[in-house]
Amino acid sequence: MSQPAAEEKKLKGITASPGICIGKAYLVDKEGVDVIKKYYLKGKKIQVEINRFKTAVKKAEDEIRTIIENSPKELQQAHILETHLALLNDKMLYGKTIEIIEKEGINAEWALKKVASNLNSIFQNMVDSYLKDRALDVAHVSDSIMHNLVGVESEDIAAIDKRVILVSDDLSPADTSRINLARIMGFITNRGGKTSHTGIVAQALEIPAVVGLAHATTAIKNDELIIVDGSTGIVIVNPSEKSLVEYEERKIQYEDYKVGITRESHLKAETTDGVQLEVMANIELPEEVFAVKDYGGDGVGLYRTEFQYMNRAEFPSEEELFDKYRNVVEIMAPKPVTIRTLDINGDKAIANHTRYDEINPALGLRAIRYCLKKPDVFRTQLRAILRAAAFGQVRILFPMISAYFEICKAKKLLDQAADSLEKDGLPYNREINIGIMIEVPSAVIVAEFLAEKVDFFSIGTNDLIQYTLAIDRGNRNVADLYQPLDPAIIRMIKQVADVSKDKGIGIFMCGEMAATPHHIPLLLGMDLDELSMNPQSIPQIKRVIRSLDLSDARSFVREALKKKTARGVFELSKDAFGDTLAEVTFS
Ligand code: PEP
Ligand code: MG
Repeated sequence: MSQPAAEEKKLKGITASPGICIGKAYLVDKEGVDVIKKYYLKGKKIQVEINRFKTAVKKAEDEIRTIIENSPKELQQAHILETHLALLNDKMLYGKTIEIIEKEGINAEWALKKVASNLNSIFQNMVDSYLKDRALDVAHVSDSIMHNLVGVESEDIAAIDKRVILVSDDLSPADTSRINLARIMGFITNRGGKTSHTGIVAQALEIPAVVGLAHATTAIKNDELIIVDGSTGIVIVNPSEKSLVEYEERKIQYEDYKVGITRESHLKAETTDGVQLEVMANIELPEEVFAVKDYGGDGVGLYRTEFQYMNRAEFPSEEELFDKYRNVVEIMAPKPVTIRTLDINGDKAIANHTRYDEINPALGLRAIRYCLKKPDVFRTQLRAILRAAAFGQVRILFPMISAYFEICKAKKLLDQAADSLEKDGLPYNREINIGIMIEVPSAVIVAEFLAEKVDFFSIGTNDLIQYTLAIDRGNRNVADLYQPLDPAIIRMIKQVADVSKDKGIGIFMCGEMAATPHHIPLLLGMDLDELSMNPQSIPQIKRVIRSLDLSDARSFVREALKKKTARGVFELSKDAFGDTLAEVTFS
């Protein structure tokens, strides 16, 4: 008798990279090093243990360097492995493990495990979801040292020779870099969030990925047929004939769609009634400017500069910052680059180990507050920005302004930085546009005062939603309440937009809200001048703008402002623009 066909199962995870693939599952086991024993050492054996640890780190370092050298260009640009190299030698991991072996006289495995789990909880408690996901970096780095300590060979995924979909608990960047990418159709992981590395890497390579599935590695068996829909976060195991036909069709539609939006990405984002919006990119690393150009970005609307301050022993020097900023500015010229000054808080200031014990870091010494308290750190960055401004079109953006005095102080320090460059005889440009992030409710309320001091506002909805609705942006338990279309939020955006029009300054948005097609009619109808988002979303949003009419969008805004719930706003938007958006996007 023949075996009954296995039943179709549907799993729902987090969309990490769009697209659809259908293929056989390849399970990557995380084996080996879970059972770590603790034992004590005395006298000379302690030094021997320290040396054993150092050798394991050195070996991990060599492995990562080899991977970097052999990685395809797209992955090298993601710069994840460089972060791992830095982490390997970071005092908090390397130094602390040696200290524990020495002080407590315990074996290297146990000391490393202790330090890694400590670091893991520090990262997990960070405010920013991107940084939270960096807890995985610590886990990957300590895993590779651990493998070398206990002598377990990791699975050789480099040897995969079939076209497969990788299913794993979590893929480390070292894992993904080792893979022969031509063989991989998609990624599925138990762990990870939107900004996990599997997602970042998959997006860079344009491979579909669904993460955060919790039990994928137990629900899926090796060689089982699966469908991954990275656009909706759905994974279908043992698909029925009907599902297979449906998804084959969907896959073709997605591919056609991608070709279409990419072809048009260099066209202007102009509405059907002739109004042009600038569609800019948010970047974290200087190397991302190339992606901005590839995806047709009209400039950089947000350069998050904090990443250059992390995973290192000292804060970067003015020369180093200047070099990086100048590079970005020159490559983008004549298009603008909006450099945001340091947005770190006590918790994020891990670079020189000046951490503060803050019970509530999101409300603590963060961003401009930190910079105003650390004028030396701030001055170094301001000078670097003003110097880079001599090489292209630079705008400066101050984060988390919550009161008038803060922008006054920040501008005073900027003036002083310019004066000092004048005195030093270095080339610089002080005639740059100055803006502030509108991401704290108090800034909305006093927007008319703030507008007198700046050339533009950039609305940071990621934080504005968090602070207005009192919802931690990284907390899964309240994620369903995090609603960009909440009446409180859309009223705030309208208020700020009206003030900026009244005062004649620019009104931009660089929060993720701007990257979602069904938010665009609202933002367009409120007369925003510029939208900034992750580079990959630019072609799609440009196409959406080209399908809309400004006068329709304005009438929609008038009605939307009468709605009492986010759902009400959404339904209204669906009625008014659902058909148009369905025609021009893929969902
Ligand atoms: C925001 O808060 O919307 C924003 C763009 O800044 P970040 O995500 O870096 O806090
Ligand atoms: Mg913010």
